[in-house]
Amino acid sequence: MNRPITPPDHALIDAATLIAAPPEGPFNAASPAIFQTSLFTFDAYSDLEDVFAGRSRQFIYSRGDNPTVMEFERLIASLEGAEAARAFSSGTGAIAATLMAFLEAGDRIVAVEHLYSDAYRICEKLLKKFGVAVDYVDGSDTEAVKAALPGAKLLYLESPTSLVFELQDVPALAAEARRLGVLTVMDNSWATPLHQKPLAHGVDLVIHAASKYLGGHSDTVGGVVAGAENLIARVNGGAFPYLGAKLSPFEAWLLLRGMRTLPLRIARHMQSGLDLAERLRAHSDVATVRHPAFSAHRGRETLTGFGGLFAFEVTDEIDVPRFVDALGHVRIGVSWGGPESLVMPALAPLQMAEVNSLRRFGVSPRAIRFSVGLENPDVIWSDVEQALGRARR
Ligand SMILES: *Cc1c(COP(=O)(O)O)cnc(C)c1O
Repeated sequence: MNRPITPPDHALIDAATLIAAPPEGPFNAASPAIFQTSLFTFDAYSDLEDVFAGRSRQFIYSRGDNPTVMEFERLIASLEGAEAARAFSSGTGAIAATLMAFLEAGDRIVAVEHLYSDAYRICEKLLKKFGVAVDYVDGSDTEAVKAALPGAKLLYLESPTSLVFELQDVPALAAEARRLGVLTVMDNSWATPLHQKPLAHGVDLVIHAASKYLGGHSDTVGGVVAGAENLIARVNGGAFPYLGAKLSPFEAWLLLRGMRTLPLRIARHMQSGLDLAERLRAHSDVATVRHPAFSAHRGRETLTGFGGLFAFEVTDEIDVPRFVDALGHVRIGVSWGGPESLVMPALAPLQMAEVNSLRRFGVSPRAIRFSVGLENPDVIWSDVEQALGRARR
């Protein structure tokens, strides 16, 4: 199950190729085709028989494979250096299907404690119900994670985490997991494959919320998991067709369209994010800025660049709801990765029963998550600055 990844035949797509890459399709069209169809017909009875007997392959039904979706899967596999990928109708669908494909009653998994909130709820509400035990461990404490691994079936990483932006020593943890026969799964939504390639650091399966930077336009929800052929075959055979969380051809097309500008967008998100993070760090109303650029923790070296999502904690002088309401340009919203700048007070999306446990996990009620968009950073900054001024007690 844990055999090392062999590089795919097709070379890794680099940032420049991604922008210029011509889609494969008829008529030399500059934009890829959408195969907006639920089913594909057979020419003859014998074709039908051959396909179902596994003697030949053709597209059958779009809850399984669809050419437009497959094009997106191929692109992600290329970017991550994976042999194969499987797309889903959401990042959460990809996480749920991956966990269900590899786990069974009686298994135990180890997850980093500040994982994405709905990944946490999959663990709490689904895995536990089906008899899978979950240990949450401080992901920044490499020795503690290693100590929890013996006997576990799966290690779930997210580096950096997307609420408090803690880094994990991915190569060390993946190596220890591999030594013990534990499958490592990692959420790489924040860095995108352009700024972090987990499979190259020993991770077995990498997951993306394509809804965020990959799509990049706040117009679609999608997800994907990528890894070795045999592992994706397990996802395909054990969960994907039966959970029914397939990506639609149109949404795959939106993702392909969005990804043609991913290198340009991510460079701007990174630059503006660093700029805003620096300005916030120098501001007297800000107590802490949680951005991986300011961390010296192991895990920094696997990032070759940054995303534009980070968090800052305001001092007691600032009334958090008043600050958020005083913003004019920057909007309030849960997602991230689109062209528009967004803030999200960190505690607001957590269900009340979870607040106490997550506070124990280190999320401060004074924390604000900031998705820095593609606007002129001076415009974003003057809005943040005036809102801080108006929110002072
Ligand atoms: C949004 C998000 C997800 C889930 O993706 P959806 O497409 O919303 O289901 C997973 N991981 C991270 C880090 C996210 O931000």
